[in-house]
Amino acid sequence: MAAIEGVNDIRIVGGGIAGLSLGVALLNRNIPVRLQEASSFPRHRVCGEFISGVSGETLQALGVRDLLNDAERLHSTAWYDRTGLVFSAPLPEPALGISRYRLDQRMAERFAEKGGDLIEGERFRGRKEEKPSQGFVLATGRPVRTESHWIGLKAHFPGLPLEADLEMHLGEDGYLGLSRIENGRVNACGLFRKRGDVSAKGEEALATYVEACGLDRLAGRLRESGADSESCSGVSAFLFGAQDRAKESAFCIGDRGSIIPPFTGNGMSMAFQSAELAVPLLAAYSKGELAWPDALSQYRKRATSKFRRRLAISRWMHPILSTPIGQAMLSNLSRKHLLPFGMIYRATR
Ligand SMILES: Cc1cc2nc3c(=O)[nH]c(=O)nc-3n(C[C@H](O)[C@H](O)[C@H](O)COP(=O)(O)OP(=O)(O)OC[C@H]3O[C@@H](n4cnc5c(N)ncnc54)[C@H](O)[C@@H]3O)c2cc1C
Repeated sequence: MAAIEGVNDIRIVGGGIAGLSLGVALLNRNIPVRLQEASSFPRHRVCGEFISGVSGETLQALGVRDLLNDAERLHSTAWYDRTGLVFSAPLPEPALGISRYRLDQRMAERFAEKGGDLIEGERFRGRKEEKPSQGFVLATGRPVRTESHWIGLKAHFPGLPLEADLEMHLGEDGYLGLSRIENGRVNACGLFRKRGDVSAKGEEALATYVEACGLDRLAGRLRESGADSESCSGVSAFLFGAQDRAKESAFCIGDRGSIIPPFTGNGMSMAFQSAELAVPLLAAYSKGELAWPDALSQYRKRATSKFRRRLAISRWMHPILSTPIGQAMLSNLSRKHLLPFGMIYRATR
């Protein structure tokens, strides 16, 4: 889209859920957008690929709702610890299952069709002459933090049989989710405490981490089913919660703004919702109706108020799910039919 007189361009760095959906929504409002992505589409990403908590209205407002029309509808969940089934339940609201390989590619195509300037395969390096400035939005996902103890791993398993649309397996030092996506595939994605003694790569790394968590039967299921090796990916070194935006003069959306623990299956929804919060403010800035510092401070206020509660609850829950003591407490509550699953599910979205 060519520059329009009297309209400020928006420049987005990062073509994930937040950056691409923001870009499409701004183009729909005739605002010229340039989006720079370090990798190229399509590509696999570490993600549970389970979308829950975002409304159809939000997706519609962003101009991407139809891209999810054929996503799998997920209705049931079952949670397990190392000894077996802890509880199973219908999901309070149906969730969506679609690979990032497919979803991000579709959004990138929509962005380009709408006339967006999409630059792929070019990492923004933040050199002095490229310092974030007015009209500049960072949607670069999880910032790398070397002090993090966590590693995320994922792979697609064609035809792996499931006992529920979403299986969550809680192990000694991490958890793994299995969720249905397109073409009869199952996405296996887990978050594990990093171990120095695991040297395996690809799908074997995933099975080895699962085994090291005490989930031997699950590791056997994964090995027996076999992964699509191209889909194997890993990510390490990130922290949860609000990211250190105080030091940033940039407008940060999605995970770059705040990271919710993955067990919630709400990170992508938060990325869409943060883009939705940003659209009217960036549109007003672009048309010269709102000064950049005001757009930035209003966005931060709105995002803090919208996400504060779920971030606090899920950060409090994360250690419960990822430690043996917490998991034993969970099993006990479930056996006594005292586990408020529906309430926790709603409170974390
Ligand atoms: C193990 C794990 C499981 C998860 N499971 C789920 C789940 O089931 N459901 C769910 O909703 N969420 C889940 N999440 C969270 C979800 O993946 C994120 O919340 C979501 O991807 C955030 O979207 P985003 O657009 O902010 O960032 P991303 O999707 O990470 O996109 C950021 C983009 O920016 C690009 N980029 C980064 N740096 C630069 C640079 N310098 N220059 C140019 N481009 C750059 C990257 O290449 C990337 O494409 C999970 C996360 C993990 C770690």
